[in-house]
Amino acid sequence: MPSENRKNRTKPAQSSEVSLAETLKAFGCGFATTAKHLLRKPITEQYPEEKRQLPPRSRARIVLTRDPEGDERCVACYLCSAVCPVSCISMQSAQREDGRRYAVWFRINFGRCIYCGLCEEACPTSAIQLTPDFENCRRDILTLVFEKQDLLVDHGGKDREYNFYRHAGIATDGAGKGAHFDEDQPVDPTTNLP
Ligand code: SF4
Ligand code: SF4
Repeated sequence: MPSENRKNRTKPAQSSEVSLAETLKAFGCGFATTAKHLLRKPITEQYPEEKRQLPPRSRARIVLTRDPEGDERCVACYLCSAVCPVSCISMQSAQREDGRRYAVWFRINFGRCIYCGLCEEACPTSAIQLTPDFENCRRDILTLVFEKQDLLVDHGGKDREYNFYRHAGIATDGAGKGAHFDEDQPVDPTTNLP
């Protein structure tokens, strides 16, 4: 028993020596990290004076684009509105005399939008696109409701050459079914009968 007591008395002295070594090592590591960063060139960006160029596929403010002929691409199909998880897109559809559909009004509530990009994914005409413009903060939340005239731009955005009506397979005054770019004539289903 006396020898056991002696063992127990020596333990605290050993553990404090180890802990001192670890403490010194931790100090050393800390000072080394500080010294390394002191010598490094600062990478702070002076926003908003200096604005960083974001990648073209960044998801921020939404626009409605036009086809290469300058017409509105949106055909008011409601797909973007249906897919939007926060229901912040609404519109009213109509049809031109030549059979082309368009949105009479088109509204996005940016106060609700979560910039998920699903509307852009769903759009068959490449009309609705998210842009890298993230500076869209307002003090008055009601000014975050954008109407068609606020959303419509005068270019084609990411895919400038795409024109839905050249690929769509629908008859308009411009061309009948099967007469569009890279398009086959419609299949006559009666030819498939046995
Ligand atoms: S980015 Fe997402 S949340 Fe915003 S309008 Fe499109 S689908 Fe809706
Ligand atoms: S923006 Fe695209 S998905 Fe939305 S209604 Fe117009 S054509 Fe359809």
